Amino acid sequence: MSASQLYIKGQWVDPLGQETVEVINPTTEAVIGQISHGNQADVDTAVSAAKEAFPAWNALALQDRVAYVQRIADGIRQRQEDLLACIIEEMGSARSFASYMQVERSADEIEASIQSLDRIDWQEEIANASIQREGVGVVAAINPWNYPMNQIQRKISPALLAGNTVVVKPASETPYTALLLTEIIHEAGLPAGVYNLVSGSGSEVGDHLAGHPDVDLISFTGSTEVGRKLYTKAATTVKRMVLELGGKSALIILEGGDLDLAAQTAVNAIVNNAGQSCAALTRILVPRSAQPAFEGKLLDHINQVVIGDPNNETTDLGPLVSAKQMETVLDYIDQGLSEGARLLYGGQRLDRPGYFVEPTIFVDVRNDMTIAQEEIFGPVMSVIYYDTVEEAIALANDSNYGLSGAVIGPEDLALHVAKQLRTGEVAINGASPHVSAPFGGYRQSGNGRERGSYGVEEYLEIKAIHR
Ligand code: NAP
Ligand code: MG
Repeated sequence: MSASQLYIKGQWVDPLGQETVEVINPTTEAVIGQISHGNQADVDTAVSAAKEAFPAWNALALQDRVAYVQRIADGIRQRQEDLLACIIEEMGSARSFASYMQVERSADEIEASIQSLDRIDWQEEIANASIQREGVGVVAAINPWNYPMNQIQRKISPALLAGNTVVVKPASETPYTALLLTEIIHEAGLPAGVYNLVSGSGSEVGDHLAGHPDVDLISFTGSTEVGRKLYTKAATTVKRMVLELGGKSALIILEGGDLDLAAQTAVNAIVNNAGQSCAALTRILVPRSAQPAFEGKLLDHINQVVIGDPNNETTDLGPLVSAKQMETVLDYIDQGLSEGARLLYGGQRLDRPGYFVEPTIFVDVRNDMTIAQEEIFGPVMSVIYYDTVEEAIALANDSNYGLSGAVIGPEDLALHVAKQLRTGEVAINGASPHVSAPFGGYRQSGNGRERGSYGVEEYLEIKAIHR
């Protein structure tokens, strides 16, 4: 593996592109290294390798594809410490959170996908038709930086299991994790061309993949803004799209709900991964009657948050991924103040090296404020007070997004509320999402599902053979 190479047709190769880009450690602001960016010609070579490898991979027995993909999971488990160190160094996710959610969970999700395969009707008979499922073809996997390994995993493992070949473009902020994962995949010994990696910019490598005539499906995780552009671009060749986009998810606390659990959940949402999670619960809807008690609980929990070097086991909150992301978050905080939200806690950049922003709580937020409508992707919480349960449901659904949600309150009422939320998932009373359960968005949060059999089905074509 070399930071100056791409991985195409089973080999590390020098890019045709000449550009190199610095990768920065967000904790120290030091340069980690230089990454070579591929160009359009590199994309063409990778796509043609994937196209050439497709028929044999698609024809392979499912159990043989499973064996290769299982070896990737095994490799991730063997290299857990290296992967964790890499993720902490290039994106700043805190060790205690990242070791499970960024690394171990990736291997768990691969195994969950494998175990889910017998839920899929690979072949079924309807009257005189035999219905077969098979790979779609060449998949372009375009990734964000916030879960730099698991986002890639969530695309390539279902795609490979389903019989597709892939070209991966990692995020420019986090290329090293992708290189390490590629080394693991190389060691798993997949046939040449089944998996390819082209590092590079979204505007060149990503854009060229999106319009490429030999790419059959685009699997994209990232912002709604870029997702929209890709959709338009992919329309020219009618590609299949799996889009996992942004979110502005609501946590609804009901009368009689556990306020301590609610406050802990709300604080975790902005602290874990520094709030840089698409499904983060960043709009907290609270009964007006609970206002003083809830604000007290929030302060209790936020005062316990340990901010610092993400390498330390005891750190809860590390830096944001980049100077740019930090500026974006600080701008949103200014906007919250100017729109009249009340700052209960935080609001400042920390006076230390690195892109650290205090965990920040706004209360008395109105749902039409920018900080309640736009995805901030940082440690910023918006608390909105409501008077009736119907109002809380309407507020939660008054969003362009529809990714996730949560309800804390008496079980029956919580379930009634959960069923009315227009989101791809809802967690009741602190339940955690299972590795096999589907994940994905309604509305502008996207149109795909990840994990388990639902994830694999996104990468399958359906053919009817009539006899
Ligand atoms: P982003 O700016 O949309 O970038 C995502 C990827 O798209 C990067 O690899 C980027 O390349 C590439 N890209 C940018 N412009 C492109 C173009 N014109 N054509 C093709 N590719 C292009 O998102 P991000 O800042 O990395 O990640 C944060 C966003 O991801 C948030 O909105 C978050 O909600 C979303 N997200 C969603 C999920 C989900 O499952 N729903 C999960 C995680 C994150 P560069 O790196 O070179 O810019
Ligand atoms: Mg970006």
